[in-house]
Amino acid sequence: MSAKILYIEDNEQNYYLVYFILKAQGHEVIWARDGRSGIEAALKAKLDLVLLDIQLPIMDGYAVASALRSQPDLHSIPIVALTSYAMPGDRDRALAAGCSGYIEKPIDPVTFAKQIDDHLAATLTGKGTAP
Ligand code: MN
Repeated sequence: MSAKILYIEDNEQNYYLVYFILKAQGHEVIWARDGRSGIEAALKAKLDLVLLDIQLPIMDGYAVASALRSQPDLHSIPIVALTSYAMPGDRDRALAAGCSGYIEKPIDPVTFAKQIDDHLAATLTGKGTAP
């Protein structure tokens, strides 16, 4: 399944790694380098999933997740946080801020595409039962 994915990430190297992996799976990837432009992009594009870095300039990922969740159109979109392996507290905070899941950084290029597909599939399944 081909999905439209927004990746909010300030680190160019991280972005390109994810971009090449997801592109190879046939996904479309939109890049925002900070939270504010990420929120703008999320409101404009019809997205299937948001990938969210937590360490971002201006607004951190928690603030971005809360802002996305406060938009009626984005209320149920999957938001997957990319959290540092070294910072386990990030995960709880990410979920509390409205993220639907998280993937640890550094990402594993071998399993990353499958992790994304699992999040997309979970959402599709969820949509069937949502009111
Ligand atoms: Mn970052």
